Amino acid sequence: MADLQTLYRQVIMDHYKNPLNKGLTHSDKYKFLHLNNPSCGDDMNVELFNENGVIKDIKHDGKGCSICCSSASVMSDTLIGKTDEEALRIIENFYLLLEGKELSDEDQDLLGEAIAYKGVCQFPARIKCASLSWKAIERLLRGDNNESK
Ligand code: ZN
Repeated sequence: MADLQTLYRQVIMDHYKNPLNKGLTHSDKYKFLHLNNPSCGDDMNVELFNENGVIKDIKHDGKGCSICCSSASVMSDTLIGKTDEEALRIIENFYLLLEGKELSDEDQDLLGEAIAYKGVCQFPARIKCASLSWKAIERLLRGDNNESK
């Protein structure tokens, strides 16, 4: 029998060891935001390239715990190719997931691999780790590039 928790842990470890879309471009095409999470020591840089309401590319680079770093990889992989509007909906759903809220089947499908962070709601101290890169991309999508905590 497949153990869902084990599967989720596997997704997180895979993205931690082999992160997707890691490394910044420093290109003018990209919007950039740096956020950190002092309670854990996570430090995350995120770049967004969107055009005509569609996310063309996301890059991330930073230091932090496995939850934070893997989550940035999952975030980029989940949101690239989505419209800005779809991405904001997925981001909202991800926050609800971290709070332990029940999501509709459709919203769970939209989350894709990000559903692996469902168990984080049992560890409130880690919620900020999981959401850090998502907060960064949300701010970039909303046009708020101000660095703050
Ligand atoms: Zn962390």
